Amino acid sequence: MTVSIQTSLILAAAAGLAIAAGFAASVPPAAAQAGQAAPAGAAPDQCASGAQQSPVDLVGAIEGKTPPVGFNWFVSRSGTVTNTGATLEVDIRSSGSLEIAGQTYELKGFHFHTPSEHTIEGRKFPLEIHMVHESAAGALAIVGVLVQEGAPLPQLDPIWATTPARPGAAEVRFEIDPFRLIPGDRTHYLYEGSTTTPPCSETATWIVMASPLSASRAQIESYRQLFSSNARPVQPLNRRYILKSQPFIPSSPEQSREPVRLERSERMVHKGP
Ligand SMILES: [Zn+2]
Repeated sequence: MTVSIQTSLILAAAAGLAIAAGFAASVPPAAAQAGQAAPAGAAPDQCASGAQQSPVDLVGAIEGKTPPVGFNWFVSRSGTVTNTGATLEVDIRSSGSLEIAGQTYELKGFHFHTPSEHTIEGRKFPLEIHMVHESAAGALAIVGVLVQEGAPLPQLDPIWATTPARPGAAEVRFEIDPFRLIPGDRTHYLYEGSTTTPPCSETATWIVMASPLSASRAQIESYRQLFSSNARPVQPLNRRYILKSQPFIPSSPEQSREPVRLERSERMVHKGP
């Protein structure tokens, strides 16, 4: 009996080490523990065992074979801005949905990572926005937006100003327009992956915009003062394909604010067995 208890303790410690090892490079232990670790009895952890993990380096994409994506978002005036200790999370209500190949995913909110988690042909960006959508069945669709240093991104100012300096939440008292957090050019990468924090569930369809937005150095630095590094390193692609939509050409200035159908789908993303 003693032996079996010792064995299970050793196994539990080994499992903990395996998970910790995957994150040690980028996430400080305090941040990893602050609200992002899965509670005992939650969905099985796939961080170390999964074969379809995120983020990935976006390289070698197959162009033109993407399912149609509709951005059916609305301006929201209610929600919360939370400093989770590991990231800045904005939960918004009644803000619309994303439609991928006829499947609807409600926009739940967005959060930030520094540096970027996804890379494009090896290139890292100082910031990445994740806009998290969930279907009625619990599947996720996450829009990733890479942010480079340049002109300020005005939508960040009220969010930054509302963020509690210590872990905690504050009410949103301003307008959040999700369309101000993605580039006008809707060309994007699409692949099947996971959440990038434990339990790393492989239930996410990723749409990563191909063009970056820009934010000022001061805006990026403000974020980094609270969250110094909260990006997971890129994961192996294994038996997955990355698709890239055909270049987006808006027919009018207004079109970039309306639901968009990029093209007719030929087939959904192929998932390896
Ligand atoms: Zn994220």
